[in-house]
Amino acid sequence: MSTVLATARNPYDITLENFDLAADTLELEDDIRAMLRHPERVLIVNIPIRMDNGRIRRFEGYRVQHNTARGPAKGGIRYHPDVTVDEVKALATWMTWKCAVVNIPFGGGKGGVACNPKELSHGEIERLTRRYASGILPLIGPEQDIPAPDVYTKPQIMAWIMDTYSMTKGYSVPGVVTGKPVSLGGSLGRNEATGRGVFYAIQSACEHLRLPLKGTKVVVQGFGNAGSVAAHLLDTHQCYVIAVSDSRGCIYNKDGLDIPKLMLHKEKTGTVAGFPASEPISPRQLFALECDILIPAALENAIDEDNAPSIKANIIAEAANGPCTPEADKVLEAKGCFLIPDILCNAGGVTVSYFEWVQDVQHLFWEAQDVYNRLERVMRTSFNDVLKFHLDRKVSMR
Ligand code: GLU
Repeated sequence: MSTVLATARNPYDITLENFDLAADTLELEDDIRAMLRHPERVLIVNIPIRMDNGRIRRFEGYRVQHNTARGPAKGGIRYHPDVTVDEVKALATWMTWKCAVVNIPFGGGKGGVACNPKELSHGEIERLTRRYASGILPLIGPEQDIPAPDVYTKPQIMAWIMDTYSMTKGYSVPGVVTGKPVSLGGSLGRNEATGRGVFYAIQSACEHLRLPLKGTKVVVQGFGNAGSVAAHLLDTHQCYVIAVSDSRGCIYNKDGLDIPKLMLHKEKTGTVAGFPASEPISPRQLFALECDILIPAALENAIDEDNAPSIKANIIAEAANGPCTPEADKVLEAKGCFLIPDILCNAGGVTVSYFEWVQDVQHLFWEAQDVYNRLERVMRTSFNDVLKFHLDRKVSMR
């Protein structure tokens, strides 16, 4: 079932609107603007696969390379019913800015397949993934374009892409994807990297605002890979995670939810809904809760002009890509919310992807603590760079 409202804004229009604002501030020349407003390559692939019932079903997939001036295109692959070519173009563009913000030598890319993985069997997902990987073979490679996980894609899916690519070469090429299982050349700490990066960004923001992290109240919208790990780290630092949601429900406990138990509950039942020691609330109530930190960690356009006025958080930490519309940005800025924008806040994932790629091409693997230390350094430096720009130029953090 589609979860996007008919009125939701096209993410690519939003990307261009924000780009124009930034380009004005930077006084970017018109010819450079024209170049950066369009992706370098857009590939649409037809994916016919044999379903378990014997019938053939067709899916559509995309891979977009927005810009490769700084290095190979880098970015995840999303499996979701609402994937469109414009969404993938937006996500690819954000990857270009994201890799530049954290200063890693990659450009921006993204892929997606319009499908509902929750309704597909393991075998169907494998056939879909291998066929999609064959379709995008002309674009990908360790020096050209390196996919990774995104919404509803996991290390297993990266392993199938790596294998499909490697079969065409006749030898194993781990550097073609990141976010792989550790046993196939993945990096320790990659799976948790986005959430961990969000945590470091929040720590930096609290230090800047002189807000002690301990005891803060946190609300997390989206309890997937990014949201659940950020919630867990905040919980271990004595924050109260008072509400969380996922695509199937929203739950609340004014004294703080037991996050390790909630993670087990989600693993077992597939949702946060029905967690004991919590009460169900509506998405509207979730955004309006009295809290210090709000983490939108699901999809684009979650916060718009409709729900932004009710938000009471001091800090908005964008673990998702594009969760606030430009209209919401204006409302939140007028309220004095401190924004940690997506291309900074969630850059921990691609940063550790870069570490993974470096380890793969060097055939030399690091310990988990090494990965964490380097990630923390990158997130803190990048946070300070963005903060300095925001303060010096008196422009929004975005
Ligand atoms: N999908 C993640 C993102 O949006 C990670 C991309 C990557 O590791 O290449 O940043």
